Amino acid sequence: MRKSTYEIILPLIGGDEKEIEGYTLLVNGLYGAMDVVKREEAEKFAAGDFAGLSVALREHLMLRGHLTRKDEAGELADLKLLARIHKTIPDRSSVGLVILPTYDCNFRCPYCFEQHRLQRGQGFLDTTMSDETLTAIFTAMEDYRKRGYKLGGCTLYGGEPFLEKNLPVLKKIAERCRALDMPVSAITNGYELETFLDFLLEYKVKSLQITVDGTADSTTAAASTGTACPPMTASCRTWSWPFPTASASACG
Ligand code: SF4
Repeated sequence: MRKSTYEIILPLIGGDEKEIEGYTLLVNGLYGAMDVVKREEAEKFAAGDFAGLSVALREHLMLRGHLTRKDEAGELADLKLLARIHKTIPDRSSVGLVILPTYDCNFRCPYCFEQHRLQRGQGFLDTTMSDETLTAIFTAMEDYRKRGYKLGGCTLYGGEPFLEKNLPVLKKIAERCRALDMPVSAITNGYELETFLDFLLEYKVKSLQITVDGTADSTTAAASTGTACPPMTASCRTWSWPFPTASASACG
């Protein structure tokens, strides 16, 4: 019995971005298993002291693949088998991208599911994707293509992708996508969109998904009269051409 070659042992981080004392996260990259165990158990597991674990925990870790009786070659055979099965599932023979060029956003929506990012401070928010990360992403995409995968589209997401400071990195992403024939789309709050009109045209951005907050009545009135949310409505008029898809959903 041994620890899986694909085992990753991580501190357990809570919603407040702080480490949860006394517990550890076990991740198995081969089988996709994630389990939380007490720290002292994780320490025994990491040190190979499997006899020091309770029988129930040992069985559970075996069942989940963290502990294995297979040697490295056996696990590698499983990896190859799973990869072959994965490829035969419809829609799994193509790969697409969702890229977050930054976690920063010019809005502070109360319902934002990424609120926790704000606790990391302005230095973190000001960071945009590095050239090194970009190269790693597109090298992986080229590799997928060489292995016979069909490349789908690339969706820009955030934070807010269309912040003026993101323009240089967005151009690099779009250039890479163009080289691989990957259409670019974006999910945006639309507030700074007019700064990006040249970008949208240059890189033939395929679609924009925009959320407009408010009741259905108020957003319809704003769009038709231009009396509310001026930047949004001005942009909305501009978007109608030449983009094949510009969808706006109203939340209220
Ligand atoms: S626009 Fe989106 S990313 Fe920005 S705060 Fe609102 S929900 Fe969050």
